[in-house]
Amino acid sequence: MNFLSQLTGCFAQPCAENPSVAMVEAAYHHHDMQWRYINCEIAPEKLGDAVRGARAMGWVGFNCSLPHKVAVIEHLDRLGESAKIIGAVNCAVLRDGEFVGENTDGKGFLQSVQEVTDPANKRVVLLGAGGAARAIGVELALAGAKHVTVVNRSKSRGEDLTTLLSSNTPAEAEFHLWEGDYAAPSGTDIVVNATSIGLYPDVDARIPLVVESLTEQMVVADVIPNPPRTRLVREAEARGCTVIDGLGMLVNQGVIGIKYWSDIDVDPSVMRAKLEELF
Ligand code: NDP
Repeated sequence: MNFLSQLTGCFAQPCAENPSVAMVEAAYHHHDMQWRYINCEIAPEKLGDAVRGARAMGWVGFNCSLPHKVAVIEHLDRLGESAKIIGAVNCAVLRDGEFVGENTDGKGFLQSVQEVTDPANKRVVLLGAGGAARAIGVELALAGAKHVTVVNRSKSRGEDLTTLLSSNTPAEAEFHLWEGDYAAPSGTDIVVNATSIGLYPDVDARIPLVVESLTEQMVVADVIPNPPRTRLVREAEARGCTVIDGLGMLVNQGVIGIKYWSDIDVDPSVMRAKLEELF
């Protein structure tokens, strides 16, 4: 008999509404893993103590959500390749006694894209330039995307991400200031909504996008996990595009995190079903 659980979890503030715990524990349970995932409400000034606590208690890793994705870096031992470029960590992993910072948001998104197309040599329109957009832009570029147009409302954030992509990845990047409705240029292969427009409860919010510019050759992806069938997903689907919802990205980043921590490949369908039940 073994009454000792392997601990993992999430450090965030606020943390109470983070559904990852239900999704990850569904996978642990399904695979008979004696593991726990605990949501921990951590104030910014306690983050260092929280990481030291995780080390002391033998945690094999943890997720970090807002507002800790950048601040956690100084408490870790080193960073993975893409996390270093992105400048943010959402998943710490114990490797050879060291906490290594990874960013699984972009990797989860990339996996969703790779299920429908190879991003190599593709032209991407990336709507938004916040944390999710940075992670997605870097992973698509490292996976060989040829060109990324960053479309953002605030000039400084958009230009920062464009410079980051041009300087640190092989992709060409250009910035387009988002004013009025944006039309995806012909020749675009992948359109990504990486803004927070459409997130519950603002479910009918419209992304300023010329829907008629979306064609059936395009893959249209939304990062919004709740609701999964956003207005963009529904409109793009009606135009014949291949669509990717944000739930897949959320599930995939969870699958990648568990693989990093345990080396076990968990069944994504169990995790997706749990989230669908909740949303
Ligand atoms: P940030 O706050 O860092 O960035 C938000 C982005 O959205 C910015 O580019 C912002 O533009 C843009 N934006 C917000 N409102 C508008 C608007 N009305 N018009 C135009 N642009 C707008 O957030 P994150 O990047 O961390 O998160 C974005 C979304 O991604 C969230 O909804 C989150 O739920 C989702 N997400 C999903 C994940 C998943 O696994 N499915 C993982 C991580 C995030 P500006 O710079 O001009 O303010």
